[in-house]
Amino acid sequence: MGPGSNIPVFDGHNDSLTADGHESLSDGKPGGHLDLPRMRAGGVRAGIFAAFTRSDGDGSATVARNDGVLEFQPAPPVAHEHAAAVTNSLVGRLLALERAGAIRVARRIADVDRAAAHRDEPPAAIMHFEGAEAIDTELEALYAYHAAGLRSLGLVWSRPNAFAHGVPFVFPSSPDTGPGLTELGARLLRRCAELGILVDLAHINEAGFWDTARLELGPLVVSHAGAHAIAPCSRNLTDRQLDAIAGTGGLIGVVFATPFLRPDFERDAETTPLTAIVEHVRYVADRIGVDHTAFGSDFDGATIPAALGGADGYPKLIDALREDGFSDAEIEAIAWRNWRRVLDAWWR
Ligand code: ZN
Repeated sequence: MGPGSNIPVFDGHNDSLTADGHESLSDGKPGGHLDLPRMRAGGVRAGIFAAFTRSDGDGSATVARNDGVLEFQPAPPVAHEHAAAVTNSLVGRLLALERAGAIRVARRIADVDRAAAHRDEPPAAIMHFEGAEAIDTELEALYAYHAAGLRSLGLVWSRPNAFAHGVPFVFPSSPDTGPGLTELGARLLRRCAELGILVDLAHINEAGFWDTARLELGPLVVSHAGAHAIAPCSRNLTDRQLDAIAGTGGLIGVVFATPFLRPDFERDAETTPLTAIVEHVRYVADRIGVDHTAFGSDFDGATIPAALGGADGYPKLIDALREDGFSDAEIEAIAWRNWRRVLDAWWR
């Protein structure tokens, strides 16, 4: 294990709870990216665990346009009742892991601090919904989910719902792909701020991003995305968006998904080097500061560089950041402190 493993790591987004192989999260699973043994090996002491409901035809079919633009079939909306049923099971799945002593669901910032201070204890898991379809239009379910431990919410995945519009996957494309928040979406965000639930702007389109910024509810946080200046696709953030994030004390979790890292948008894990991640971290840190740069892997939800492998690869990434010139204090901010700060700001 490299020297990087002494720095606690906060992983800003994984789909491991939802993905195949979730039954083996505690003991380790063949294939995949993140489980408890690999978190231990990688020094990952906290992570944001997403509950996600798939669409029928989840946007994996491509439509290559003749102008060279690679566009994916837009994912259809999912019904509230279906999303609620799936989400209830996923919430139960996370709580069962907590009861078995594998993780501790973080409900206050002390739980996150404890995970960093006591390496022999279970890591902290932040309960997150990737898309708010499970929440009813009266917003009553939000209280039940908050009581169960929900502490982070993204209004949308890459599809529209009652609250906002997600970006379809288009390469290349601006993130400005449609209308902004609905009135109900704005109401839900205000309710999140009241309850102390972090608002995550990954997957929202640009109009929704600016509508949220205008509400001034808390630091702007995008849990998993890349820099549009390097890889200009719909899911990545423009320089203006990055600047706005810094202006509110927020952060971007740099995603490790190969199509969002590479200027050619190729998915290939084998030919995507570790430095592809470092380049986005470097770009964001130089543009808006180390204090607004973090990790947002997308483990078990995307193709990631083979050179990283999974959550156990974090020490390699940390060594690569050192080689790029980041100091240990800067790496600690990127790997841990920045996520801790934005959670504390939303949760208090
Ligand atoms: Zn995602």
